Amino acid sequence: MTAQTHQFMCLSDNFGLLIHDPATGKTAAVDVPEAAPVLAAAKEKGWTISHILVTHHHADHVQGIAEVKQATGAEVIANGADAHRIPLVDQKVAPGGKATFGSLVADVIDTPGHTVGHINYHFPADRILASGDTLFSLGCGRLFEGTPGQMWEALKVLRALPDDTKVFCGHEYTASNAKFAVTVDPDNAALKARAEEVATLRAAGRPTLPTTIGREKATNPFLRADDAAIAATLGMAGRPAAEVFAELRERKNKA
Ligand SMILES: [Zn+2]
Repeated sequence: MTAQTHQFMCLSDNFGLLIHDPATGKTAAVDVPEAAPVLAAAKEKGWTISHILVTHHHADHVQGIAEVKQATGAEVIANGADAHRIPLVDQKVAPGGKATFGSLVADVIDTPGHTVGHINYHFPADRILASGDTLFSLGCGRLFEGTPGQMWEALKVLRALPDDTKVFCGHEYTASNAKFAVTVDPDNAALKARAEEVATLRAAGRPTLPTTIGREKATNPFLRADDAAIAATLGMAGRPAAEVFAELRERKNKA
């Protein structure tokens, strides 16, 4: 049986995500921005949270862990390298390794940039990626700890996943990302169409996620730093992609 997902809002613009394994009844929460909505979402689905998969240590991703763990006894899985700054870690995983709950197995992908210990969980059999604050729809996470070069390399790894991979991100930032994206990739028809779709969804109070790798490859400027048209728009024709990426990130910071 294939994994089931349930996405919902937490705090002001964080997403909560539950991944359920029907074969074993196990359920993982990806990060816990706040406990109450995560516990309520599980209850609504009739699922019991057995695991918590942590993407990175920021408060708006881990501050509900203790309460959910107390309520459910869930096992906390996180990057071993960051276990000192993530609460109550039970199972340390390493980038390049696997994270397992029930019968579901995720590849742990190293995604330094937003933070140095940030990881993504990719479930290849179910075409699910939990990208935390690395890849957003039409955008990417701010570089708090890593370098632009590290983030660009991480995004290239995510970009190489199958096009139909569903991408669940940490935040609903798509509308603001769309505003910036059209300024650096103005002739991209797929981006224009996506920006219109995003405006319609948000006006109706609906989420813009999950997205897919295929859609982001076609529309997200941060996955297209090696696209000649974007480099030309930035006045950086022929420059290395990592430099173009750094310039994109810098301009978005100021936008
Ligand atoms: Zn973060």
